[in-house]
Amino acid sequence: MPRESKAAKAARAEEIWELLVEAHPDAHCELDHRNPFELAVATILSAQTTDVRVNMTTPALFERYPDAESLAAARQEDVEELLKSIGLFRSKAKNIIGFAQGVLDRSDGELPRTLKELVSLPGIGRKTANVVLGNAFDINEGVVVDTHVARLAQRLELVLKKTTTPPAIERELMALFPRERWTLLSHLLIFHGRRVCDARKPACERCTVSHLCPASRV
Ligand code: SF4
Repeated sequence: MPRESKAAKAARAEEIWELLVEAHPDAHCELDHRNPFELAVATILSAQTTDVRVNMTTPALFERYPDAESLAAARQEDVEELLKSIGLFRSKAKNIIGFAQGVLDRSDGELPRTLKELVSLPGIGRKTANVVLGNAFDINEGVVVDTHVARLAQRLELVLKKTTTPPAIERELMALFPRERWTLLSHLLIFHGRRVCDARKPACERCTVSHLCPASRV
């Protein structure tokens, strides 16, 4: 494809946005949670595993440890027992207990609402902080870049071809889309990635944005 002008790329991004909104009107965070604390824990647990698997694990976890106070005081082996069906369960048990202790140390058990404060907590990186801010607090602070968002951003060439790292992809997506769209943009790309643009077998023939996608096979 010839080099695309900035204006043409913005127009294509706008059209992609509209079509994805239409295709996935129910796009949302697929990690089950009832409050910011649960969402943060579920997001920590979701590293390198599926949301479905996390959702099968968290009901029992949150029944036993419903808040930062109870989780901070948990014995690691008890938490490991509850998490053992997910990958990396030992380090994740350690991480969520450490996270709960960090929340208690800094305040009364409530989660902070700024990126700076959130990433200062144990176990919370920029991606988890963005998930919590965007979905629990309705604050668009960044774009969550997981494996689906990274793949879709590259296939659709919403980012430059040479842009491959999550922080760089996030920066380019933030420049391309207005702030109020950042949280939903991530959900739309994740929904599309899970349901249509599979990593190995993208279903281009039924993809609503195939005419706008440089990687389309149809
Ligand atoms: S056209 Fe194919 S590669 Fe492009 S976004 Fe759609 S499914 Fe993915």
